[in-house]
Amino acid sequence: MRRRQFVHALAGLAAAGFSVATRAKIPRLRIGVVGGGIVGASIAWRLAEAGADVVQFERTAPGAGATRNSFAWLNAFVADRHYQALRLASIAVYRELDELLGLGITWGGYLNWARDEAEAATVSANAAQLAGTAVPTRSLTPAEFANLNPVIAPGPIAAALYSAIDGHLDPVHATLQLLAQARRHGARLQCPCEVQGLDMRSGHLRSVQTSGGVVPLDRLVVAAGVDTPRLLEMAGFKLRLRHAPGFLAHSTPAPLQVRSVCDAPAGLSFKQMADGTLVGTDSPEPPDLPVHASIREGAIDFPDDAIRALHGNRALDKIKAFLPGARAAALDRVTLGFRPMPTDGFPVIGHVPGAPDLYVAVTHSGVTLAPILGMHVRSELLHERELSALAPYRPGRFAQRG
Ligand SMILES: Cc1cc2nc3c(=O)[nH]c(=O)nc-3n(C[C@H](O)[C@H](O)[C@H](O)COP(=O)(O)OP(=O)(O)OC[C@H]3O[C@@H](n4cnc5c(N)ncnc54)[C@H](O)[C@@H]3O)c2cc1C
Repeated sequence: MRRRQFVHALAGLAAAGFSVATRAKIPRLRIGVVGGGIVGASIAWRLAEAGADVVQFERTAPGAGATRNSFAWLNAFVADRHYQALRLASIAVYRELDELLGLGITWGGYLNWARDEAEAATVSANAAQLAGTAVPTRSLTPAEFANLNPVIAPGPIAAALYSAIDGHLDPVHATLQLLAQARRHGARLQCPCEVQGLDMRSGHLRSVQTSGGVVPLDRLVVAAGVDTPRLLEMAGFKLRLRHAPGFLAHSTPAPLQVRSVCDAPAGLSFKQMADGTLVGTDSPEPPDLPVHASIREGAIDFPDDAIRALHGNRALDKIKAFLPGARAAALDRVTLGFRPMPTDGFPVIGHVPGAPDLYVAVTHSGVTLAPILGMHVRSELLHERELSALAPYRPGRFAQRG
């Protein structure tokens, strides 16, 4: 029986509920997953659940990369219909996983409001790009806004938009729950353990060299966030990501006030976690000022603690201005994260050109997309299906020509 047949048989047995002992008699595909962020965790779980022999490598700690520093807004707020459908599918899976895994998602929707005509044009553009799509948004009058969110002091409202399907979560907690599922199905997490080299023969994977030794593998999924290009380069594939830093201020817990993810005037985004912590930023990317030059150019930290606190306090003060009941909240910490941002903004998912045993999964909005990616990557790797849901996101679109 060829490997493909073995894997099909295995998936059938798993679906039929056969025991691990029964399955153990069938050679299992040995699949490595590089990265213990939310995307790698979801993929490891789904592969192990379907009967693959999964080993996951995480260099630092689970969720230590972009996942830890994420705003973690679950949304389908994109104009591209195909991409929107993928995100909606993932949000639907989150609805099921929330209770099953105790993810503690706050399903509070999304609010976007403007204080003047110039900002209102942006809110209207956001509404227009979603009009007639499967993302149900509606405009709010000031009275409706007040009714929906009595605790927010919004100031003058020139336009307001509400989307009911959005949620937010604690991304590290969610990652740990997904990893626990992976472990339950037999996946082994090696951590701390860095993948340092690939042993490829005639384009096929033999093993990976790690800081803990050599591990023979049949397939490797690279879900290494911003480090993904370095790993793909080892297989001769060049992928460039856009350097996309973003900071978030985190407060001490305040009394529970707001459940929606909020995009407020002047570029302020914030949410309140279930424990009362306020999380937000007044600048999705560092403004183009000389003081930010180093952060805009490379993956580094804030120059010093004073600048870190300055950014954090400025953002938190702006958030508190909209939440009078949270005025006592103080700055707890400021995170600076780096989004795994493909240059065209869309996910990069699929077999690596020239290295069919390697599969890549790198994307912005990975918190939103992790559940559906886990399921789709399982189908593509174990059932050797090419899913149309992933067709536009193949790495081949970045293959260098000529
Ligand atoms: C400021 C900010 C705001 C964001 N807001 C949102 C949002 O609102 N909604 C949303 O959906 N997404 C958001 N994102 C994006 C989202 O956080 C990421 O897309 C997602 O976390 C990516 O998860 P990942 O598992 O692919 O990567 P990561 O979480 O970066 O995990 C990759 C892991 O791989 C490990 N690794 C790297 N190289 C190796 C190696 N050689 N060997 C072993 N391990 C290795 C790293 O240590 C890391 O833990 C935001 C990101 C940031 C930074």
